[in-house]
Amino acid sequence: MSRKRIAIGALLFEGNTLSTVVTERRDFASKYLVSGDAIPSELGATNTEIGGALEVLRGADLDVVPLLATHGGAGGRVSARCYGELRDELLARLRAAGRVDGVYLALHGSFIAEGLDDAEGEILEATRAIMGADVPIAVSCDLHGHITPAMLRHACILVGYREYPHDDTRETGARVAALLVRTLNGQIRPVSRLCRAPMILPAQRQRTKGPADGHWPMRAIIDIARGREADGTVLAASYFCVQPWLDLPEVGVTGVAVADGDAAKADRVAREIAGAFWHKRHEFLVPTETPPAAIAKGLAVAGGPVVLADAADCVGGGAAGDSAVVLEALLRHAPGQSAAIHLVDPESVAAAKRAGAGAVLRTRFGLQRVAAEAVVERVEPDARFRYSGGLMGGVEAALGPSAVLSVGPVKVLCSSLSAYEYADEAFAALGIDARRQKFVVVKNPMNYQQAYAGAPAMFVLDTPGPTPSNLASVDWQRLDRPCFPMEDGFQPVFRTA
Ligand SMILES: [Zn+2]
Repeated sequence: MSRKRIAIGALLFEGNTLSTVVTERRDFASKYLVSGDAIPSELGATNTEIGGALEVLRGADLDVVPLLATHGGAGGRVSARCYGELRDELLARLRAAGRVDGVYLALHGSFIAEGLDDAEGEILEATRAIMGADVPIAVSCDLHGHITPAMLRHACILVGYREYPHDDTRETGARVAALLVRTLNGQIRPVSRLCRAPMILPAQRQRTKGPADGHWPMRAIIDIARGREADGTVLAASYFCVQPWLDLPEVGVTGVAVADGDAAKADRVAREIAGAFWHKRHEFLVPTETPPAAIAKGLAVAGGPVVLADAADCVGGGAAGDSAVVLEALLRHAPGQSAAIHLVDPESVAAAKRAGAGAVLRTRFGLQRVAAEAVVERVEPDARFRYSGGLMGGVEAALGPSAVLSVGPVKVLCSSLSAYEYADEAFAALGIDARRQKFVVVKNPMNYQQAYAGAPAMFVLDTPGPTPSNLASVDWQRLDRPCFPMEDGFQPVFRTA
């Protein structure tokens, strides 16, 4: 008998309908964008799902057909042209692969493109059309994926990351690949079901490991998932907190379960997970502070770094990373205090490059054009760093032309490109020790809790931008209602598929 052949690919992007950032091919390429035989050599040793899947598939007696692998980070909609090119390249390679016995795709779940609200549904439908009805299609998704009935129509296995921060992407790829191998060997007949609760959640309290602040509502939900896997009810159980800034119908926190040949069991566990989310909903809500109030509280505590989370300008959630609102507040309310902040600000980079290191210039920082006199500390023609962990662990990311400008003791890292924040890699790459500052401004809702563990104080700020923590403040247009936390006290309707 000829060896079985498994096609693998990755096409990930986290969309945010509140963001006006249009993502293009260069934004995918600045993280990773590889095809064919370059996939094992470039991604095999990384934390990516593909890295984990390759390890499992190499250990099994079968052949791997690498298609295309890329992650575009997060933003608004991907341009129609960019999405069309990436989709067509993936599918063309699948068509050209000849006989394939199984497919593994690492997807996000919340990929949106211009004119398309469910890219994964479309990709899986096209994959099914190429493969025919009988070839198993296995999918992994981000814990923030928006999992749709269209996706489950074509994927018999759908599994999410277990961890947030996403430290288990490689393990997730390995788990899904192992289920696919067992399916091909005739050991299991996987069937997946979902259940969605009418609710969305801010990210800060979605952490899946020990509490930084005593709030750990995910624990009860994780216990259900791991319990139903351990007792053999299902092969895999996943909890999708969902990217909350998706103003689309059918968006909501979702449970998904994969059972062995028994759809009723998968349905039961998916319902149990969605129900647990609903039960815990109030525990996920997080208090926010205005920037001046947080700075005043930060000045009152001894030492640093006091973490100011500019949650609404979260690059990993789809924002541009260009808001200077917190910089302006620091200059006004904490004069003389050291601080570090990263802004996507190619204009200030260009001005710094023209002036040269050591020069003093007047510039206008960020989206709000905050005027300040700054010293050019450093200019980098092509700043890069390698992620120390998380879903891009081991991957090199590009900030493009960058500069460090000092406004008094405040260090402003200005870059041309945005980069998802895992820890302090971007600051470190430009020689800034964020931990030695009185204040550090972060632009993510979760990873800072781990990156700056031990910090004397951390504040979630109420700031303008497309990734706010206060979801009730958003003017939703298309989201199904009623939906928590905009409404509460209604009888929830749980949707299943
Ligand atoms: Zn995520």
